[in-house]
Amino acid sequence: MSVDPGRIQLTSGDITQLRVDAIVNAANSSLLGGGGVDGAIHRAAGPELLAECQTLGGCKTGQAKLTRGYRLPARSVIHTVGPIWQGGAASALELLAACYGNSLKLAVDNGIRTLAFPAISCGMYGYPLDQAAYIAVREVMDFLAKDDRIETVYLVCFGEEVRQAYEQALQTMRGG
Ligand code: ADP
Repeated sequence: MSVDPGRIQLTSGDITQLRVDAIVNAANSSLLGGGGVDGAIHRAAGPELLAECQTLGGCKTGQAKLTRGYRLPARSVIHTVGPIWQGGAASALELLAACYGNSLKLAVDNGIRTLAFPAISCGMYGYPLDQAAYIAVREVMDFLAKDDRIETVYLVCFGEEVRQAYEQALQTMRGG
């Protein structure tokens, strides 16, 4: 299984500034906003985003829901809910993998060709960065290998530590 390396890109900085078809939000299950990247996305998108989220009835952990991007440069937002790290239960790994898989599936179903992920669950939800980065890279690679409708996935590195974790995971997955 091989994926053109250019289809997975590491990018630094603030996800709300990216001009992609969709950015992914590491939301909580209420979808009514929170801290971290969720707060940043709601601030940048404006109150219309919260109004649309209020109509969605929340989102289960591992699932994903789509909204418009409003004042963001991105056309859409995919809201997914990561698991809270609770000492390494297998279910957390599966749920984190599901966040990536379900977000990518939702993207394809909606004609999205470029999307950007934050490091889901790696902030307040406490998932160890190295393990989460590995899961993210593996799920994205698996998906892109099977489906050529997604052009580029950006993994957003909010800080040097995140970048290092992704670089390591990419190297491992690419057999380098
Ligand atoms: P969770 O609750 O899923 O852990 P957080 O928002 O607390 O979500 O953190 C998820 C990741 O998003 C962390 O790596 C955090 O550093 C990163 N992050 C926070 N703000 C931004 C932003 N504006 N752009 C990109 N990534 C961000």
